[in-house]
Amino acid sequence: MSETTGKKILLASPRGYCAGVDRAVDAVEKALDLYGPPIYVRKEIVHNRYVVETLSERGAVFVDKTDEVPEGARVVFSAHGVSPAVRSEATARNLSTIDATCPLVSKVHKEAIRFAKNDYDIILVGHQGHEEVEGTQGEAPEHIQVVGTPQEVDQVQVRDPDRVVWLSQTTLSVDETKETVARLRQRFPNLIDPPSDDICYATQNRQEVVKRIAPNVDVMIVVGSANSSNSVRLVEVALDAGAPAAHRIDKASELDADWLADAHCVGVTSGASVPEILVRDVIKKLQGLGYPQVEEVKTRTETITFQLPRNLRTKLQNAGKTGAGAKRVPGPDHTC
Ligand code: SF4
Repeated sequence: MSETTGKKILLASPRGYCAGVDRAVDAVEKALDLYGPPIYVRKEIVHNRYVVETLSERGAVFVDKTDEVPEGARVVFSAHGVSPAVRSEATARNLSTIDATCPLVSKVHKEAIRFAKNDYDIILVGHQGHEEVEGTQGEAPEHIQVVGTPQEVDQVQVRDPDRVVWLSQTTLSVDETKETVARLRQRFPNLIDPPSDDICYATQNRQEVVKRIAPNVDVMIVVGSANSSNSVRLVEVALDAGAPAAHRIDKASELDADWLADAHCVGVTSGASVPEILVRDVIKKLQGLGYPQVEEVKTRTETITFQLPRNLRTKLQNAGKTGAGAKRVPGPDHTC
C-alpha cells in the first residue's frame, strides 16, 4: 500500500475573503484604474502581506499616518476604520478621501456614538492597539474603555453600574468574548448588550467551520498574516476545538514538513483578508507532500456583498467605468 493512501486535506468553507475585505481591495484597485498611481492608503488596506505587496506594485503607497500623505493627494482609509480625529487631519491637509471602512465596522462606530450621546459607559471588548479598536474608541474616547481579556474585567471602573453597555471588535473569538461578557455581567448585572452582534458574520462563519473540522484533523493550517486578528483567532479556535496542532502561515513556503509527521488528515482554512491564490498554493504544496485528496467541508454559503464607497462609485459611473455598483468581479490575484 502506498504511504499516501487515505491521506487527505479537509478544506474549510467558508474561508478567505469576506465582503468588507473584498470591497476595500476593490476600492484601491478601482481608484488606481480611475486616477492612476499613486493612490495613498492609510495603514494596510487589509491585514494581509500579499495583498499589500501586490497593490504596492500597482502604485498604491501605504502610509502609517495621515501627515505622510502629500497635501491635496488622494487617500483611502482601510477596512478597519478611522477615528474622527483622522478624518479631521485629512480635511486639514485638503486630502481627497475614499473611505473603505467595512460597513460592519461603521455599524459599531454608530453604536458607540449613540450610547456615548446617551451618556453610557461603554466597554469595548477588543485588542488595545488594533486599528479597528483605535478607530471605534476615537468616536467617544471619554466614554469608552477597552477590555482585552476576561481577566481585565476586574480593572474596569464605571460611573454608574446601571448605565454600562458592551460593544466589541468585529474579529474576536466568539467563545472568548462570551466569557468576557459573562464576567462583565457578574460585575454589572444590568449590562446592556449591543443591538446586534458586533462580531461579524465572516468571523463567526470561519470559526464555525473550523470548530467542525478541528476534531477530525491531526494538524490545522491557517493561512493569514500575523497582524490579522481573525486569522490568529482561527488558530486558537482550532486548538480549543480539539486540533492537536495548528499553525498560521502567510504563504505555502512557510509550511514546515515536520508539522506533518504522522499526520493523516490536515485541515486548511484562511482568514478573512486572505486571497484564494494563497490557499491554492498551500493545497498544491500539501499534495506534493503526499495528501492527494481534498475534501471540502462546508457549513455556510455566504452571499453578502457591499457596494464600493459612494464617492468612488459616483466617479466610476461618471467616467463610464463598468462594475461601479455591481458585485465585485474577481481579479486573478486576489480571489478564486
Ligand atoms: S472581517 Fe468582518 S468586519 Fe472585518 S472587513 Fe470582513 S466583514 Fe468587515
